[in-house]
Amino acid sequence: MAFSHLQLNPQFVQAVRDAIDIVDVASGYTKLARAGKKWKGLCPIHKEKTPSFHVDADLGFFKCFGCGAGGDAIKLHMLLTGDDFAAAMESLAQRYGVPLPARHASHRGARSKSAGEVDPGEVLESAATWFREQLVRSERSRRYLERRRLPAELVESYGLGYAPEGWRNLIGAFAGKYSIGDLLDVGLAGRPEGGGEPYDRFRNRLMFPIRNAAGRLVGFGGRTLGDDVAKYVNTAETERFRKSSLLYGLDRAKRAIRDARRALLVEGYFDVLGAVASGVEGAVASMGTSLTVEQAKLLARFADEVVIGYDGDEAGQTAARRALPILLAQGLSVRRAQLPEGEDPDSLRLARGPEAVRAACDEADDLLVAEIERLAPADLHRNPHARSRAGKGITELIGVLPDALVRYGYARLAADRLGVPAQLVWQRVGVGRTSVAEALEPAAVGEATPGRRGEEEALRALLVAADRGLELPPLATLPPAAAFLDPDLRKFFAAFRSLYEAGETPTVRAVLARASEVALADEKAAQLLLESEDSPVPALEEALRNLRRRWQRSRLRELNREISEAERQGDRDRLAELLDDKHAINRELHGIEARDADLE
Ligand SMILES: [Zn+2]
Repeated sequence: MAFSHLQLNPQFVQAVRDAIDIVDVASGYTKLARAGKKWKGLCPIHKEKTPSFHVDADLGFFKCFGCGAGGDAIKLHMLLTGDDFAAAMESLAQRYGVPLPARHASHRGARSKSAGEVDPGEVLESAATWFREQLVRSERSRRYLERRRLPAELVESYGLGYAPEGWRNLIGAFAGKYSIGDLLDVGLAGRPEGGGEPYDRFRNRLMFPIRNAAGRLVGFGGRTLGDDVAKYVNTAETERFRKSSLLYGLDRAKRAIRDARRALLVEGYFDVLGAVASGVEGAVASMGTSLTVEQAKLLARFADEVVIGYDGDEAGQTAARRALPILLAQGLSVRRAQLPEGEDPDSLRLARGPEAVRAACDEADDLLVAEIERLAPADLHRNPHARSRAGKGITELIGVLPDALVRYGYARLAADRLGVPAQLVWQRVGVGRTSVAEALEPAAVGEATPGRRGEEEALRALLVAADRGLELPPLATLPPAAAFLDPDLRKFFAAFRSLYEAGETPTVRAVLARASEVALADEKAAQLLLESEDSPVPALEEALRNLRRRWQRSRLRELNREISEAERQGDRDRLAELLDDKHAINRELHGIEARDADLE
């Protein structure tokens, strides 16, 4: 593989977990002060004036009572840097001195270097430096940048460079420093099909270093300064350079995006630079491909709102329309910058000045409202069939909104526009998910149901007891994992149970290491353990008893259904078996309930 990736074996993950200090990680982003046994500070994830960000160094968890984010140190690092799990493990391992596990064997066979592998990041950084040096020397690229009126400090801060004309400039300059294999690996060199001399991949191009959200250089984009038919060429797709999961400029823009909770999404490199040169912060580019779900998720980590600044032509309109549901589904609100026909942010800056770009972004319209109006033109009521089709398109869009209240708001707008009773739109929007009317019930807007709260309490009591080294109830008295209806909690409890069964102490750390969906489990654990500073740890026995009783009641209901089915089919053996089960559960349930009555 061009970029060998880490083997994320459980031992390595655990070693990193053990080595990280969450207070240290958090302190890199906010000032923490001691508050009793814990630490407190302004939340680095959302903007706030009074501290609601809590860190528990012992448990290794953080929780923000302002924005609700929570998790362990890895999660915090991921949220603040935009790293994915693998990248987070790599950078935290390096930071805390955990040796990286062996990389995948290279498909090119034995390497010439005896001192081990060359870090691909180092090769790329060396190339970026070399490209910058070439830019200073290149009359042609300097003239080109002057024509585009890009401020020198911007060219510098985005690290623009120049790959000179000719086939072996970079290869020649790097001879002795890196092998051809290293350059092929990171996509800086190519080799003709069927063999032959390797050549520089980028020739006579203005070079844009492309970094991931964490700021790690992963590849380049190059714009031709000649008449090459390929206007733009990118680093070949590798594991680390996957355009679909990268947003150009995010590493520089993420602070501004997080502060304003707003991002400007544009198409290309020059649009990003043009927007920033116009004083619009938070600009990122999807680099020519249509927006992917991964990119939208990346944006949603930092922003609440996305302003789309695609070209003001038909292609740009179509691209914006395609991006709309993808962004909406991530809970982002979407507006569209008012760019005049045929202009992109950079050309608008050159034609009418930076104020015009800022105004276009400030006056951006709600794109979902605009789409509703486009799909349902004003004279629609004259044609019932056309109205039905419009309604379908509109409700499909509204249906992707994850927030019931937002969905409700747009459903009402759509009903107005379509000239139909709101109820009709609500019904359609509710298809495949909770209907709006239901969704507005408290239980559906995220409040824990009593059942779920019981599950959380039991799990919390168990984890706290295990973590404090208290005695745990005998295994036989624990409810089965099936007693947990919430799938995440069930997974978590199953991990707890299996450790306990194996004779290990199911501490939070051990359970986390066992639970498969690590990031999710972390968040859950933080929620469970740091949920409220004041709420006491529920009494373990009582919590477990409640849970077990609830499970038995639901088992009984299920058994009754199965019993009548067996009766209907005249299956006597099955019936006898089911009745036995029913009596056993009844005995235990009533035994438990009798004990309850004694206590009262
Ligand atoms: Zn927060």
